[in-house]
Amino acid sequence: MGNVEPQVATTGGAQPQASPSTDGFQLVIDALKLNGIDTIFGLPGIPITDLTRRAQADGLRVLSFRHEQNAGYAASIAGFLTQKPGICLTVSAPGFLNGLNALAHATVNCFPMILISGSSEREIVDLQQGDYEEMDQLAVARPVAKAAFRVLHAEDIGVGIARAIRAAVSGRPGGVYLDLPAKLFAQSIDAAAGKGSLIKVVDPAPRQIPAPEAVKRALDLLKGAKKPLVILGKGAAYAQADADIQSLIEKTGIPYLPMSMAKGLLPDTHAQCASAARSFVLPEADVVMLIGARLNWLLSHGKGKTWGGKSPKAWGGQTFIQVDISPQEADSNVRIDAPVVGDIGSCVAALLAGIDRGWAKPPAEWLGAIAERKTKNVAKMAETLAKDPVPMNFHSALNVVRDIVKANPDAMFVNEGANALDFTRSIVDMYKPRKRIDVGTWGIMGVGMGYCVAAAVVTRQQVIAVEGDSAFGFSGMEVETLCRYKLPVCVVIMNNNGVYKGTDVNPSGGPDVAPTVFVKGARYDKIMEAFGGVGVHATTPAELRKAMEDALRSRKPTLINAVIDETAGTESGRITSLNPSAKKK
Ligand code: ADP
Repeated sequence: MGNVEPQVATTGGAQPQASPSTDGFQLVIDALKLNGIDTIFGLPGIPITDLTRRAQADGLRVLSFRHEQNAGYAASIAGFLTQKPGICLTVSAPGFLNGLNALAHATVNCFPMILISGSSEREIVDLQQGDYEEMDQLAVARPVAKAAFRVLHAEDIGVGIARAIRAAVSGRPGGVYLDLPAKLFAQSIDAAAGKGSLIKVVDPAPRQIPAPEAVKRALDLLKGAKKPLVILGKGAAYAQADADIQSLIEKTGIPYLPMSMAKGLLPDTHAQCASAARSFVLPEADVVMLIGARLNWLLSHGKGKTWGGKSPKAWGGQTFIQVDISPQEADSNVRIDAPVVGDIGSCVAALLAGIDRGWAKPPAEWLGAIAERKTKNVAKMAETLAKDPVPMNFHSALNVVRDIVKANPDAMFVNEGANALDFTRSIVDMYKPRKRIDVGTWGIMGVGMGYCVAAAVVTRQQVIAVEGDSAFGFSGMEVETLCRYKLPVCVVIMNNNGVYKGTDVNPSGGPDVAPTVFVKGARYDKIMEAFGGVGVHATTPAELRKAMEDALRSRKPTLINAVIDETAGTESGRITSLNPSAKKK
């Protein structure tokens, strides 16, 4: 243990003895290191500044952000990418609250993350006596966290961190809050006792083997299907069972749809990928197997017109199989005929083992109908992408991004926005697992630059981010962080001068612009230049292509202000149905 200070003990009038002691700061650092945690995303300040300094001195990578929300998003996605809890460290009350958004995001998306926040003194908080940044943080965090703990005594730090790690990664992963009051850090205890109190967590995310009868039930349904379909979700990507998932798809011959962050689990260009025929396969399929995907709003709750139901809430007649680690997930929206509960690695392995030699591929009629739709839609898209309008639009810009990603399949790909998200998701193919990281279950904005930092640091790969101009604004100041750590990140801003688009007018005729409109012709590229990165103003696909190629070659932090037609884009992108104001129009 580093940084051990002698503690003077005087017992029974004997000569003072120096017995080595340690403190709360050190025990937190040692407990994290003992459990293989090597990176902290955070923002220093009272009472955790020394924790960041000493963690860095002790060999942890400590990445400082400009706002805790971005550090939190970085931690959450680091958890998704590594299966280890991403750590976000914040100061008390306001810093904690800034980090809370990301904690909720981690919980909702099933990403393992631990938000560690310093807090003020319990005695004062509980009597509401007005301490510096007083807040009952544990109570505030609880509703949005998978679990929340507070440690009051240095000798309990080992248990606190062990419990936080287990809660974050076991079963359905999620966000965990760990409250560390300021006084804890300075507490001094005997070094040997401190060391003995630390816990190296054994098997933090134990495998969960599915019941053989559940596997058989699922396989029997698949065997009897005439129009089977698999939907792969981000739980499948998280599980890192890539080879088995690919074998399952290929051996069964069943067409599959990847959810957004499952894109690339198998290459999007795979013959069995049905993405280009999505609106055909969902209502037509008879047996649907969900692997690590929930039937939430992103899948229209498994019912209604998307699924061929006669009315918005009607069941479409599908039989569902759901592979998930959470035993409570089944039946949350529609009946699940065959829940297969377990970790995806074990479940997919068991399904594979149950596929016998005589397994019949799905009927040719079904596969043929999908192939026909795909060919038609792909041709239509190719025609759109081949156009070269002036000014550049989403399609002509994303056609460039699509080529660049194809040529750099190992690059991490970050994506957020409204239209910038929807168009990109369907135009830019992914070729490898866990490359695409995006707005996730809530469809939020603000994850962009935090994700970029984490993706670059955790994977050591180059990062490409496609950002709406509105989405970028939520985390834009972190371009300084990209420059400070010299990260190989190329940010492309689809700049159409506003939220959705830049053409709204103030109906009152008053001096303010419409609420959805930004400064016209804004030069986002200058922000990157301000911190020593490369800024490029691109108004044509050729300029965009050159700038992206240069960025990937140089590995310098680069921001490309891709100016697109300000009339391009629809209100709320593809979720117009959820926006009452867009519905009215
Ligand atoms: P998507 O948004 O891509 O559809 P969701 O976030 O809705 O994906 O679903 C992910 C699902 O995966 C969750 O229900 C979660 O319980 C499950 N999950 C996460 N990790 C695992 C795992 N290792 N094994 C099995 N299921 C998992």
